[in-house]
Amino acid sequence: MRTRTTGTLVGLMVVALFVVAPLLVAAAARPDRSRELRRAIDDGYAKNVILLIGDGMGDSEITIARNYAVGAAGRLALDSLPFTGAMTTYAVQEDDPTSPEYLSESASTATAWSTGVKTANGRISTSAKTDQDLTTIIELAEQAGIRTGIVTTSELTDATPAAPAAHVSSRSCQGPADMAACPQDRVAAGGPGSIAEQMVKAKNIDVLLGGGKQRFDQPIDGGPNRGKTVVEAAIANGYPLVTTAAELDGANPINKKLLGLFAPGNMALEWSGLPAALGGTPAQRCSENQRPAEQPSLAAMTTKAISLLSQAQVGRGGFLLQVEGASIDKQDHAANPCGQIGETVAFDQAVKVALDFAAKTPRTLVIVTADHAHTSQIIATDSSSPGVTSTLITDEGVAMTINYGTSGAGQSQQHTGAQVRVAAQGPQAANVVGVIDQTELFTIITRALRIGAYR
Ligand code: MG
Ligand code: ZN
Repeated sequence: MRTRTTGTLVGLMVVALFVVAPLLVAAAARPDRSRELRRAIDDGYAKNVILLIGDGMGDSEITIARNYAVGAAGRLALDSLPFTGAMTTYAVQEDDPTSPEYLSESASTATAWSTGVKTANGRISTSAKTDQDLTTIIELAEQAGIRTGIVTTSELTDATPAAPAAHVSSRSCQGPADMAACPQDRVAAGGPGSIAEQMVKAKNIDVLLGGGKQRFDQPIDGGPNRGKTVVEAAIANGYPLVTTAAELDGANPINKKLLGLFAPGNMALEWSGLPAALGGTPAQRCSENQRPAEQPSLAAMTTKAISLLSQAQVGRGGFLLQVEGASIDKQDHAANPCGQIGETVAFDQAVKVALDFAAKTPRTLVIVTADHAHTSQIIATDSSSPGVTSTLITDEGVAMTINYGTSGAGQSQQHTGAQVRVAAQGPQAANVVGVIDQTELFTIITRALRIGAYR
């Protein structure tokens, strides 16, 4: 059965080569864009900022998704922003924060753009060695009367959404029952509590949408909310709770605050397929539309977050929203190319939502980037790689072999330390051009919003 499918696909491949070749040639000719780029430079302030993070979405992950879904000569929504730069993502060493740690992960990298300070791997907006709280862009925005939101496909308490919202010494301290690595941060010990508890404080982030309900269902172990679950404390603090796509769709709370918890852990994947294997897999097409209907897409969550944040005119108006496609990284770890591509395509649809809002809303800065690079690589179809591989037949009917070789077969694949793409449009966007460091995103965003040192 599988062999016959592959045979048909190889036939399609041959036909497609003739169709696609003229497009590739045509793509090379473009008019001089100097005037267009000059017009796109805006040194003014931003009313709204939408920061979209593809977790682990290095150049390889972008290229793989583009090849599969829109073709090598096609362009994703995230390819359309006028300014692009390269961004370094290294961390620092815990014992000697003056020395770099070349390989980073989601906690140190999210801390970098959230606070402007590099920290050690695993830390959430706390300093390496000294364990001091570092002020975040969300806190600065709130102080200035700007509304804030966080959207992710992972647990809301995972490292990327946690860093702008909370301060703990270890990313593992996600719920009140998960505090083994952060005893000093427990509410019972006089600390600020777990990431979940810090996220739903009364005067805090307005819109929180993602997975990780199991963390919020844990009982709080100290302070005035002792015995309540984090969800109960959140509701008491003015957050209506929604748990399904239909409830999200229908939600229109008067205070425009919302807590959405759509899965016990990470949210479901968009696509499925065979994981990469030693010696390769049979050539495969991905199974799309695998996400259960009761869970919203990243694009649907982004649409609702923008709607709620842009409606309420409190304080000075405007908003800061962080949106994360989290499972690009998680499926890269799992050497699952279809899972990885499906999440990248879903992330790109959320980018499209942000760009559509920006097109009709002046003074909106949109930044699209990744936190760190990852393992997947496009290699020769006849390669004898020592890593696990899978050959996919793309939408344009061509074979593409993906290699995962940073760990042994069956083990979690590892991040890589390369620079990643950063793309932007709107006020201050031209500052991403060239080679920047991840901490400069903090400067660009605070300067654009006129918060923190730029207030
Ligand atoms: Mg993440
Ligand atoms: Zn990872």
